[in-house]
Amino acid sequence: MFIRFTWIFIMVFVAHIVVCDIGMQSGQNTYPGTVIKLSFFLLIPLVNIAKYFLVRNNLFFRKKVYHTVRLVEVPLILSVIVFSGTGEWGYVMLMFLILVTSFYAEKKFSFAMVGYAFLWNIILKYLFPFPLDKNGFAALFESPKDIIDMFSIYIGFFLFAVFCWMLYKDNYENEQQNKKLFMEIANKYEQLSAAQQEIKSQNDKLKECNSKLEEANKKFMTSLAELFTLQQITQAISSIFDVRELLKSVNDIIIGVMGVSSSTIILYDENKGRLKVHTTNITNRKELIILNDNINCQKLLDALQKGEPILENFVDMEEYPFVEGRGIHSLLCVPLITKAKKFGLVLIEHKYFNAFDDNNLRLLNIIGQQVGIAMENVELYQRMHEMATIDSLTGIYNRLYFQERLREEFANAKKENYDLSLAIMDIDHFKRFNDTFGHLFGDKVLKHIAHLMKKSLRSGDIIARYGGEEFVILLPRTSVKEAYDKVERLRNIVAKTTIKDELVEASVTVSFGVSSYPEFANTESELLKTADNALYDAKESGRNCVRIPR
Ligand code: GH3
Ligand code: MG
Ligand code: MG
Repeated sequence: MFIRFTWIFIMVFVAHIVVCDIGMQSGQNTYPGTVIKLSFFLLIPLVNIAKYFLVRNNLFFRKKVYHTVRLVEVPLILSVIVFSGTGEWGYVMLMFLILVTSFYAEKKFSFAMVGYAFLWNIILKYLFPFPLDKNGFAALFESPKDIIDMFSIYIGFFLFAVFCWMLYKDNYENEQQNKKLFMEIANKYEQLSAAQQEIKSQNDKLKECNSKLEEANKKFMTSLAELFTLQQITQAISSIFDVRELLKSVNDIIIGVMGVSSSTIILYDENKGRLKVHTTNITNRKELIILNDNINCQKLLDALQKGEPILENFVDMEEYPFVEGRGIHSLLCVPLITKAKKFGLVLIEHKYFNAFDDNNLRLLNIIGQQVGIAMENVELYQRMHEMATIDSLTGIYNRLYFQERLREEFANAKKENYDLSLAIMDIDHFKRFNDTFGHLFGDKVLKHIAHLMKKSLRSGDIIARYGGEEFVILLPRTSVKEAYDKVERLRNIVAKTTIKDELVEASVTVSFGVSSYPEFANTESELLKTADNALYDAKESGRNCVRIPR
């Protein structure tokens, strides 16, 4: 747009000059003169184009640039006034220029511009096209009135500039101050935005650091929770040798650490090929019935057989019938297996959808592995314990186990206030028996008597081999009278039994001493002592009989 107007302007002026010069047809206008005039006019749009680019690039109002442009513009405007013959009206353009300059530039420059313009006016009006027009120089001196007129115009300009200056002085100063302030503000703003940028970048870095820290912290907390859980489980595993107690403890730890709605340990009966709820924190009767009745579902059996965990965050009741009507929406299940055995499953459930993630799965898997190993250890321990507590010859408990049980049973009897009877049995003249039939046959007798005892006593009674040919029977919740009757029956059975092998056939008799808490004893040792005394009494009384303390 700007460029197009500039071209139109140039075309109009060129046409104007050419037409004027040709039209005048006076010998004054020579060809070089016209060329110089045209050059002046052409410079006007060029200067304006330059101005346009200077303004666009924020260079125009730099003092030196501004002065230079104005100093170039003055002769160009004057050339228009003088060459185009616009007359006095043309000076309005010049006045406007001086006015704008006096507004913008300092006072001295606008005053200097008035003098500078006056000089150019003389040069262009009288000396141009020097040296082509020799009459011009003469005309300068021939018409002093013109010069005085012109001079008075410039005096007018000067006064006008002073007047404008005075009028806008305050404004100018204010403007200068504003400009200064603006520059300062702009400067400050620049500093501020740089600082802001810096803060933003630092903030971004901080945010990044923070999120990294948060991430690390989360990982750390997860690891810590895992470590804590495993430590608790390890502790439980290493201190508990009873499966029931161990699984109860593990279940409690899982609930505490994983914050689930319910946790259940399910054991697998290899003989029946069925699952059974062993330990659970569910207390609601209805829920327990649903769980127990539906625990043998294909999904859980498959998980156990394949040794694969299950993670379901949107539980389908069809697949997991044990959740029906219990409001369970997420579940996690891991098998309790070792290389040697499939023990069962740990099942944790949540009432919310999408409650479990891979971290929960990983942790429960580790717990499952640990508990599997622990159960194997418990079984091993129980087997070893059994081996340590069973008498190898007779297959009944030995003295060590008996003493352990006596302590427990005595404490229980005291606590629950029931009768606890103890019978000591000794084979009569066993030494003689051995001597007669040999030790091997003697062993056979010992085994046979243990078998008879086991057969004729109830499961709650504890039978043990107390010494060489001595046996003990502990009878909880049995009075001395009841105990007496029982062992008397046993004595009779033994007496009537004949033991035989290929060569020998013989029978033995036994004697019993019976005592009872609280009737005859108040402590374990008293119980043992009084029973032993009664046995001694039985021996004294001729053997093959039962005696109670007197
Ligand atoms: P009493 O009627 O007074 O009890 O006489 P006894 O001979 O049974 O008593 P004693 O304590 O003198 O002898 C116990 C015998 O039991 C001695 C020992 O040879 C025998 N005996 C102990 N342990 C075993 C065993 O494990 N096998 C066999 N065959 N005999 C044993
Ligand atoms: Mg004896
Ligand atoms: Mg004996």
